[in-house]
Amino acid sequence: MRKGQKSSNKGIENFLCPFTDMYISQDSGGAYSHKGIMANDVRGVQAGVRYPYYAPCTCKCLKTYPITGQVMWQSVNKVRFANGRIDYATFITAHDDTMDVKIGQVIKQGKQIGNMGIKGNATGVHCHIQVSQSSDTSWIKNQYGNYRFNHEYDLNDCYFVDDTNIIKGNDKKWRTTKDITVKEVSVNNIEIVDQILHVGSKVKFDGIFKVDILKSPLSTNLFGNIKLTGVSYDEYYHESAKAYHWIPLDDFTEVDKYGSSKNQDDIVVGGKSYVINKNIYTVKKIDVKTNSAQLELNGRDIWVYSTYLYEV
Ligand SMILES: [Zn+2]
Repeated sequence: MRKGQKSSNKGIENFLCPFTDMYISQDSGGAYSHKGIMANDVRGVQAGVRYPYYAPCTCKCLKTYPITGQVMWQSVNKVRFANGRIDYATFITAHDDTMDVKIGQVIKQGKQIGNMGIKGNATGVHCHIQVSQSSDTSWIKNQYGNYRFNHEYDLNDCYFVDDTNIIKGNDKKWRTTKDITVKEVSVNNIEIVDQILHVGSKVKFDGIFKVDILKSPLSTNLFGNIKLTGVSYDEYYHESAKAYHWIPLDDFTEVDKYGSSKNQDDIVVGGKSYVINKNIYTVKKIDVKTNSAQLELNGRDIWVYSTYLYEV
């Protein structure tokens, strides 16, 4: 792709190759750091140069790993991949010595998301990239000690190489958006939103959340979640968390840790059960300092991190 390039069809963004020039210095599978994983190491025209790379789709920073210059990104909406699948993209970029993205930050398709680098003991300047065609963010160590997603695809099945200069593509079948027949899809439900929360924004919870602690007596139907509110287990445990840090369980459904509600007994257990919430809420207040939003759930005001909400 080119800097600033945008590409979509029928309201769905095409997942583009983030590099203007692509020289694959280490392919998927094989030995060492890519054994058992679908990852490419990519450098640019000249070895040793920290070329920039761009957002393949409009995406949100989910996690950062400063020691390795690594970022986990996820598309804000479903995207179209080079193999024709339409789903969320969750992807990793690594070795950026200049990494300054913040968790929760949303970057529009075509804007710069990093620079090739050597952070984390990389051999030569490059970007390590790995793509999952799913919203599942599980990041698992395999038997060779390399991390992978549950739904990884090889990179030529993930990104369209429109306007990417392929210097070394390892004879794989790389596709451009012209190679894919776009099926008719409904765009009625797709609304353009900026993902910056304000008072009055309509939001949904983004993710699967563990019930860290249940409030007793159980009849109050409240739970604590460290990820969502930042309040520690200890504070919940000793009941010193303020009223608004307890979250009413009523609008949440029990699921397994992958989000499936199959075989769940709906008996939620603290420290064990996972829940999701598909309702839409209105932001009542914003706290910029803690990057939190106040929502009303079942008549109770709670503060949750904006990172785990997305605007709809
Ligand atoms: Zn690599």
